[in-house]
Amino acid sequence: MKKDKTLQQSSTSNWFYSLLILLSALIIMTLLLKMQTLTWAEIVWFLAFTATFIIRLPFTRMVKQNHIVLAKQDTSEKVLLFGMFASSMFLPGMYLITSWLDFANYSVSEQFVLIAALLQIPYLWLFWRSHADLGRNWSPTLELHEQHKLVTKGVYARLRHPMYSAIWLFVIAQPFLLQNWIAGFLIVPAFTLLSLGRIPREETMLREQFGQAYEDYIARTGKLFPKFHGK
Ligand code: SAH
Repeated sequence: MKKDKTLQQSSTSNWFYSLLILLSALIIMTLLLKMQTLTWAEIVWFLAFTATFIIRLPFTRMVKQNHIVLAKQDTSEKVLLFGMFASSMFLPGMYLITSWLDFANYSVSEQFVLIAALLQIPYLWLFWRSHADLGRNWSPTLELHEQHKLVTKGVYARLRHPMYSAIWLFVIAQPFLLQNWIAGFLIVPAFTLLSLGRIPREETMLREQFGQAYEDYIARTGKLFPKFHGK
């Protein structure tokens, strides 16, 4: 693989990701103590958040060993990642722990809340499988490491971005589980912007790296929805 001048440890080793892990653990511990004050929908959100943390933790540790040869994290990506951090972790945590955001509450009918709760099952399955199939090739930002392999098996066999598809399920459900414009809904514009910006850049990076193999892979897969026919 072509080496970049800026060979470095994975970006996951930097202080920002350690801080995210610490903050997630803090939110989980605080909410464990406050469980009796939460609605059932909020408990579902909390359980999905905790499962997300548990699924991702070993991968965050594993990719720390990777030697990064190409990292495509610019300022706009950092801003969008910060937006995701705020809307998926910090604001929901603050909403569930304090009453500061209660002025922005709304309510939705129970059927929608139930559907949102059920969506956590395919979300967690796909989130877990995409991490398991991507293995060491996973990274929180756009990166290629020294031994990067193109993964085309498992949940990657029919769609190119199963992890983002999974996150979309969580993103769509959150405004129904946390019925608050700031803590529940803001994740929708935050992830729309992040995924719209990231998918084309990620595909360009992988196309440059893997050439025809990636072109062939594009031809037989869907972006966010699986492709079942065609070459
Ligand atoms: N977009 C994918 C992966 C998200 S993780 C998904 O939604 O499932 C982001 C990292 O995964 C990127 O830095 C890229 O290097 C890596 N990546 C994405 N697709 C890949 C593939 N098919 N094989 C290997 N690495 C891949």
